[in-house]
Amino acid sequence: MNILVINAGSSSLKYQLFQMKDESVLAKGKIERIGMETAILTHEPAGKAEVREVSEILEHTTAIRKVLALLVHPEHGVLASTAEIDAVGHRVVHGGESFKNSVLVTDEVKQEIKRLFDLAPLHNPAHMLGIIAVEANMPDVPQAVVFDTAFHQTMPAPAYLYPIPMVLYRKHKVRRYGFHGTSHKYVSERAAAFLGRPLEQLKLVTCHIGNGASCAAIWGGQSVDTSMGMTPLEGLMMGTRSGDLDPAIVPYAMGKEDLTLGEISSMLNKHSGLQAISGGSSDMREIVEAMEAGDKNAALAFDMYEYRLRKYIGAYAAAMNGIDAIVFTAGVGENSELLRKAVCEHLTFLGVEFDEEANRQGRGLERRITTSSSRVQVLVIPTNEELVIAEDTYRLVQAAVD
Ligand code: AMP
Repeated sequence: MNILVINAGSSSLKYQLFQMKDESVLAKGKIERIGMETAILTHEPAGKAEVREVSEILEHTTAIRKVLALLVHPEHGVLASTAEIDAVGHRVVHGGESFKNSVLVTDEVKQEIKRLFDLAPLHNPAHMLGIIAVEANMPDVPQAVVFDTAFHQTMPAPAYLYPIPMVLYRKHKVRRYGFHGTSHKYVSERAAAFLGRPLEQLKLVTCHIGNGASCAAIWGGQSVDTSMGMTPLEGLMMGTRSGDLDPAIVPYAMGKEDLTLGEISSMLNKHSGLQAISGGSSDMREIVEAMEAGDKNAALAFDMYEYRLRKYIGAYAAAMNGIDAIVFTAGVGENSELLRKAVCEHLTFLGVEFDEEANRQGRGLERRITTSSSRVQVLVIPTNEELVIAEDTYRLVQAAVD
C-alpha cells in the first residue's frame, strides 16, 4: 500500500509518499509561496535527482495537481499512475476536545474541523484546503486526519484547566490542548523500545525542541501534562515565541507602547524568544556560533532557553513523582550537543549521569547520552511525524476494509 502524507499550511504544502510494506519513502517534497506567481516546488524522488521548479501556483488544488503529476512523471516520478496511491493522510494541528484519535475523513469530520477554525485560525483552514484539494484531484481515495492535539487528550483536568472562571472553559473551550502530540507519542514509543522496557511502566519527559518547542510528561504511555497550552505560545522559550510570561504584561505593554491586540500577538509569536534576546537570530545554530564568538546577548538567549527547559523537566519530574528517562528530539534537541550538555549537567540531583563522549557521537541515530549506571537515562531520538501519519492512515484504511 502507498500512502501520501500531506502537511498543508496557508501558503505551503509538504508531502511524503510512503511504501508501507517496508515504510520506505518513495518521494518527498514541498511547495512554498502558494498564492504567488513565483511558487517554489522542490521534489526529491528516492534514488533520482532533485527537481526544483518556480511557477505560478495560486491555490492548493493546483499544488496537489502538480505534486501528483511529479509523482507519475516519466523522468522524475516514482509511480506508474496515481491509482497506485491507496490513501492520503493529513496533519491537522487542532482537534479540540472532539478528536482523541486519528480518523478517516467524512462530511461530519470536515464539519467538526471547520468548527475548530476559531482555535487554530492560522492552521486548520489551511489543512482543510489540503483535504478539499485532494478530494478534487482524487475523489475516490480515502483520506485520514491525524491531529497534533489528540495524544494530549489523556491529560487530567488539573493539568488541562486554567485557574480562571470556568465559564471560559464551558462556553468557549478555553483550556490546555498541547501540540506536537504526534512527535511526543512517536519518541515515547521509540524510547521504550530503545530501553527494552514496557511503555506502560515508564515515566518519561519528552522534549520536542525545534523552531516551536514543547515538553510532555508521559506516564505509562499517556500524556499527563504538556507545556504548550490553548495555543502553541505557552511553555518553553522558542525561536520567536516568548513561551510563559506574566499575563499582566500584555495589557501593560499595550498601554505603554500603544500596541493593538494584533501587534502584541505578533510581538509574542514572531518577535520574542531567542530572536528578541539575542537581538538577531532565532536559529540555535547561529546563537551558538555567536555565543562562541563572544556575543553576550547570544549567550544570555542560550542560558534563558536552557534554564526554562530545565525548569519544565524538573516540574514534570515532580508531576509524575519521578522519571525514568528524558528524551530530546526535533531540530535543536537532535542536533545541539551544547544545549543537551547544559541541561543534563544541571540535572544531577535527579540522578542524571551525563556521558560527554556519547553526546558527541551518532548524529541522526537513536542513542543514549548518559552512562549505563545513570539512574535517569537521557536519550536522543530523531522524530518522524510523517511516518506516524502514514501508519495511522494505513491502520484506519485497513480497518475500514476488514
Ligand atoms: P525544527 O523546527 O524541528 O525543524 O528545528 C529547526 C531548528 O533546529 C532550527 O531553527 C535550528 O535552530 C535548529 N538546529 C538545526 N540544526 C542544528 C544544529 N546543528 N545545532 C543547533 N541547532 C540546530
